[in-house]
Amino acid sequence: MSCKESPHPGLLLVISAPSGAGKTTLSRKLFQIFPSLRPSISCTTRPPRPNERDGVDYFFVDDAEFDDLVEKGAFVEWANVHGRRYGTKKATIDAARAAGTDILLDIDCQGAAILKRQKLDAIFIFILPPSLEELENRLRKRATDSEESIRLRLHNARQEMASADGYDYIVINDDFDQAVAELCAIITAEHCRTQRRYDALEKARA
Ligand code: 5GP
Repeated sequence: MSCKESPHPGLLLVISAPSGAGKTTLSRKLFQIFPSLRPSISCTTRPPRPNERDGVDYFFVDDAEFDDLVEKGAFVEWANVHGRRYGTKKATIDAARAAGTDILLDIDCQGAAILKRQKLDAIFIFILPPSLEELENRLRKRATDSEESIRLRLHNARQEMASADGYDYIVINDDFDQAVAELCAIITAEHCRTQRRYDALEKARA
């Protein structure tokens, strides 16, 4: 696959999907293909899974710390997802914008809706699983969640999938390589937008 990057002001990519749709694996692939694309590291009150590291996968905080961040207005968006709180810090977005780097936010539909209302210059992408049955298979196969958590995630998936029509793009993760190719096409096309090309030229001249 040849997805070449070119100079551009940063893209703010917002990707949502029901849990188990393959968003994390797809995002990892995008970070390999586009080395300058950076993940936005969220804060969460969820405890870390065995393979997760603080400051890499999430900033793991307790309820009091999260409350404090909310009170200080540190979040550009935050939401309660599957019974835990998750939030994106304003500082993370501001730093990416200032540096002109592309940033990918892997956030739920509630968070995406909050960002949409703020009229940020963001690109909203929804990843759909091929079906709810396949989603359940994937959740059970990855064996990282309890039965209760799987049920809750499946219940939430129905609602989340209903909000897909508010997004700019929908990618169906049936065939992994095809889904990656579609995501690359979206990113490349967004880099080529006329306004971004002009912005990039202006930035280069400044
Ligand atoms: P997980 O616990 O499986 O890592 O993530 C659960 C859900 O929380 C996923 O749908 C993920 O996109 C969402 N999420 C992760 N970080 C954020 C965030 O900062 N804000 C919001 N609103 N959702 C998030």
